[in-house]
Amino acid sequence: MNPAWVVLKFGGTSVASFERWRTIAREAAARARERRVLLVCSALAGTTDRLQEAVTAAREGRESDAVERVARAHAELASAAGLDPAAPALAPMRAHLDEAARLLRGAWLTGEAPPRLAARILASGELAATALGAVVLASLGVGARWLDVRELLVSAPRPLDSDERRYLAATVPAVRAPERLDAPAGDAAVALTQGFIARTPAGETCLLGRGGSDTSAALLAVLAGAETLEIWTDVPGLFTADPREVPSARLIRRIGYREARELASLGAKVLHPACLEPAALHGMPVAIRCTPHPEMDGTRIEGEQEAHPAVTAVTCRRGGTLLSVSTVAMWDTPGFLARFFAPFEEEGISVDLIGTSEATVSVTLDAVPDGVEGRPFKRLLARLEELGDVQVIHPAAVVSIVGRRIRATLGEVAPALTAFQERPVHLISNSAEDLNLSFVVDDDEGPPLVQRLHDLLFSARGDDPRLGPTWERLRGAPEPDAGAAWWVRRRAELLRLAGDGQPHYVYDLATVRERARRLRAALPAVGRFYYSMKANPHRAVLETLAAEGYGIECVSIQEVEAARAALGSAARLLFTPNFCAVGEYGRAAALGAELTVDGPHLAEEAPGLLRGRGLAVRLDPGWGAGHHAKVRTGGPSSKFGHPADELDALRSALEGAGARITGLHAHLGSGILDADAWPALARLLASLAARAGDALQWLDLGGGLGLPERPGQPALDLDALQAGLEPIARALPGIELRLEPGRYLVAEAGVLLAPVTQVRRKRRTVFVGVGTGMNSLIRPALYGAWHPIVNLTRHPAPPDLFAQVVGPICESGDVLGRDRWLASPARGDVLLIGNAGAYGHAMASHYNLRPPAEETVLA
Ligand code: ADP
Ligand code: ASP
Ligand code: MG
Repeated sequence: MNPAWVVLKFGGTSVASFERWRTIAREAAARARERRVLLVCSALAGTTDRLQEAVTAAREGRESDAVERVARAHAELASAAGLDPAAPALAPMRAHLDEAARLLRGAWLTGEAPPRLAARILASGELAATALGAVVLASLGVGARWLDVRELLVSAPRPLDSDERRYLAATVPAVRAPERLDAPAGDAAVALTQGFIARTPAGETCLLGRGGSDTSAALLAVLAGAETLEIWTDVPGLFTADPREVPSARLIRRIGYREARELASLGAKVLHPACLEPAALHGMPVAIRCTPHPEMDGTRIEGEQEAHPAVTAVTCRRGGTLLSVSTVAMWDTPGFLARFFAPFEEEGISVDLIGTSEATVSVTLDAVPDGVEGRPFKRLLARLEELGDVQVIHPAAVVSIVGRRIRATLGEVAPALTAFQERPVHLISNSAEDLNLSFVVDDDEGPPLVQRLHDLLFSARGDDPRLGPTWERLRGAPEPDAGAAWWVRRRAELLRLAGDGQPHYVYDLATVRERARRLRAALPAVGRFYYSMKANPHRAVLETLAAEGYGIECVSIQEVEAARAALGSAARLLFTPNFCAVGEYGRAAALGAELTVDGPHLAEEAPGLLRGRGLAVRLDPGWGAGHHAKVRTGGPSSKFGHPADELDALRSALEGAGARITGLHAHLGSGILDADAWPALARLLASLAARAGDALQWLDLGGGLGLPERPGQPALDLDALQAGLEPIARALPGIELRLEPGRYLVAEAGVLLAPVTQVRRKRRTVFVGVGTGMNSLIRPALYGAWHPIVNLTRHPAPPDLFAQVVGPICESGDVLGRDRWLASPARGDVLLIGNAGAYGHAMASHYNLRPPAEETVLA
């Protein structure tokens, strides 16, 4: 039995240079060991545009040199591949180009190029490209059988279809019929055919619409019964916005068919909108891959979308038309909409978005046959004018927020809508399937709006396993601010230390000090700062921060003991445990720590401890924030805190046992970059202050002050935080505001140094192995956290290797950095993993009995 087929589609830029054909040959040969390979190719980049230009010129009786330019591009590619463009083997390529020239000449002479003729002219681009491609592949040692796709794909026109639709945007049903491919392919392991083209039932050439090669490939994959379809293009996948317009757009690693189709039809032109239907119907996964970077993983489209609501991307489609009809006759008139839509069907003009009010119907039109100056549109307007006042806005752009259950994300989306301030929005529409929220705006407003909306929706977005690196990062942009980091100055010292071949955590105390001072100076509204020592309990760090006037926040009795031992009796300690044994409270109190309780349990379990004591209570504000679900500590499902609206009951229980409330405490989560988070919390606590009793002395707003981790994230705006807290502090004389920063003070002060143990290529993926992994730094595995990684030995050599940085632990999640650009390392080079001063060593383990990296402090 013949092996199964796999289908690879290569787009215009993927077939336009000899270097790309080398990749095609390599990928085809690799798969041909186990499968039969069908390559589906577009015309060389720009060809279809040029042929279209030539058709328009011919219709208008103008001369055009477009075909010569197309022929020249083919000859140049042949020469680059070491072939003589006049060689007999290239006769089929020349014949297709000559045919285009001949047909165009006829069109020019008559001044007419009906759709049927235009289809034959445009089809010659794909025919010539594949004729050339077969010869190039042969010269690279891959014998590929050339197939005419018109033998394989047959359209199914509907009786009312216009000629435009019948010949230039045909519909081809997806059928599984492997025998139709097996026969012409014979025993070839690799076959090569055209995208974009099909045949009508009458045997004429027709096209699938601009960009339709993706759809050809999907139809051929279904026909062949292929296991997967790979779309190879010039970007490494679907992104959260067009990466060429928005460099901070992030790669979407996985997505369901419906959502991907929504993205494609709303402007993500990397996929032709019709290509996912056949794949979804046959449950065939689609992979998007990057021809210039075959080592990158790309996007995988499969399965149905997950159920929880999420915003996935921002798209834009330009050059559309908004058409509105206003009339009082619409009100209460049954059948008005039927009359409105009838002429659209008659003129073959399809409608996209719809909005209606009592007196106006508005619709957008994506493509109008013959354009807004053409006859069908003029006839449509004449018919609509019989119904009411007609208004046309052209060109218009449709900007869409695409995702799942968008109506449930409105809270998240709302702040981003400030992007529309002072920009006229002509229509808003929410798709019935709830996969998009779309805005019709003036055409040139489209791109800046996408940029702005994307910034607002994605820049502060935490880690999301569905999303990969940004486009700029995948292209190898330098690590952010590397030049300013302390470890650049101290590189020689670090390399000396790592010279023993062991992994090391290294802390720079000057950076800790600088952070501590910067925070205090920026936030005079905060009366006292407590360092949340769980981030990094190293004794030198505690001493440095205590010397800067910081108190220490402890969450276990062991932390209280360590802080007391390091800092002596003068240090201010706050004990804020969660679900700890009752005995810990007594021991912490004996060591002079202030106590925080998060429920009434102590009143029953240790009334003796409470008698006559001032206590703080930790409240759950009812909402949380932070970079990952696992670090959000507020909200109903969180184990932390007592519900804020039940403060009265908690107070009576505690006072009943003889205690007084001296502080109110709340904490939202970690890695928060939104400066409004703490003022909002402060307002809540301030509103409860009167209900806490006369002994109240302070309000603690917790920690969670975030640092930009991913490139492109904005920093926390300390001025805005001060501005938000200042009026609250002023309104509460005699009550101190407290903050408990942890990672903000120490993350950047620490690095993890790890020696390279191996550089290994497995198929096309490059793994760089280092001497320690999740046993030293678990954050990437646990939260998908992103840490900068630099080859310190080679610094500042530019990054030239795209790799996965992995540790030695027996766990597939032991990855320190996915999809990273590094200056190519050799065994023994030292990689630096940045931002590792917080929750690095503190969360380390001896998993696999591998000791974690040891700590060194630089004074
Ligand atoms: P091909 O010639 O390979 O078919 P296309 O030019 O049709 O390639 O599609 C690839 C282009 O799609 C990219 O270069 C990119 O600019 C554009 N694009 C638009 N939106 C997106 C998106 N959301 N994700 C990825 N690419 C997009
Ligand atoms: N060559 C055709 C176009 O440019 C089809 C394609 O590339 O998908 O529209
Ligand atoms: Mg395309």
